[in-house]
Amino acid sequence: MEGPVVTSLADLPLRDDLRGREPYGAPQLDVPYALNTNENPYPPSPALVAALGKAVEDVAGGLNRYPDRDATLLRADLADFLNADTPGAGRTGRDVWAANGSNEILQQILQAFGGPGRTALGFEPSYSMHPIITKVSGTAWVDAHRDEDFGLDPAAAVAAIEKYEPSIVFLTSPNNPTGTALDLATIEAVLDAAPGMVVVDEAYAEFRRGGTPSALNLLPGRPRLIVTRTMSKAFAMAGTRLGYLAADPAVIDALLLVRLPYHLSAVTQAVARTALAHRAELLGTVDALRAERDALVAWLRGEGLTVADSDANFVLFGSFSDRRAVWEGLLERGVLIREVGPPGWLRVSVGTPEETAAFRTALKEVL
Ligand code: PMP
Repeated sequence: MEGPVVTSLADLPLRDDLRGREPYGAPQLDVPYALNTNENPYPPSPALVAALGKAVEDVAGGLNRYPDRDATLLRADLADFLNADTPGAGRTGRDVWAANGSNEILQQILQAFGGPGRTALGFEPSYSMHPIITKVSGTAWVDAHRDEDFGLDPAAAVAAIEKYEPSIVFLTSPNNPTGTALDLATIEAVLDAAPGMVVVDEAYAEFRRGGTPSALNLLPGRPRLIVTRTMSKAFAMAGTRLGYLAADPAVIDALLLVRLPYHLSAVTQAVARTALAHRAELLGTVDALRAERDALVAWLRGEGLTVADSDANFVLFGSFSDRRAVWEGLLERGVLIREVGPPGWLRVSVGTPEETAAFRTALKEVL
């Protein structure tokens, strides 16, 4: 008897430009110490778990209806939260947009401002989803490189923009996977040179070191600037899938043209609003994580390794002739980190003191 016919991707009429691609994603392995996806390691307290449960219960009775399509209340809450970062900005829900993770925000930006015949430009090494979302939207991708020290020279950035005239420029600050933050002068130089939209991806903004400014400060009067943020990292809500942006209301009008109706479920909106109401608890771990990060950078340097300065909740370190062997050695000891970034470097997320100690012990053994 013949077995069932197995269809492979090659048998399907897939778009030519998707052939040969691999799905994106860090390995999701069940290990004692997962330090590979830059999550906040602290789970919600029992009191917050109860509040989240109550919030879901409150909307559950209305789940036969579609949710608020424009997430009005959630966006107002997010605006309030951002106003604390830039006092006096007076932002309202009209200046903020929300979606399922900042990845969906980025996808909507590409759908509205990119597309066939257009180009997006970024400075690698950076967040690898930027080129992926770009290409999947049919937009061409240009990599204008970062400097050797992972910084961005404004003159070089401007020259690349003038050469390629991209519809969208990606800046990531603090940058993933290097942890490098940008100064406002560099972002301003890029904005002045760019003919199209400039996206500053601030997924890790809350972890930045004192004195490192946010691009939110540049928003007034700059309708081509978009600042994206997320509740996945500092906010300790990666499972909620809630990303957002601040921009001129006209930018949000553009995104309304491409967003799917009812893209944010009633459950997501309720959970995100409850998390925002408990922001003091959720963001209460950020100072401890920053201190843990700074200590980790110092420790790695003390071990003779090269370490990039970090304004984020992860650290890029190297360099290894065989980084794969180091990554595997750590995994054998129950510590999962990320093999990402320039050849020879590895990235570790900052965990609890216990997790970070396990990483240090394992790395000492491997080296
Ligand atoms: N931007 C950057 C720089 C990131 O590192 C990540 C997550 N790794 C994201 C955006 C997307 O995060 P999310 O979709 O969970 O908001």
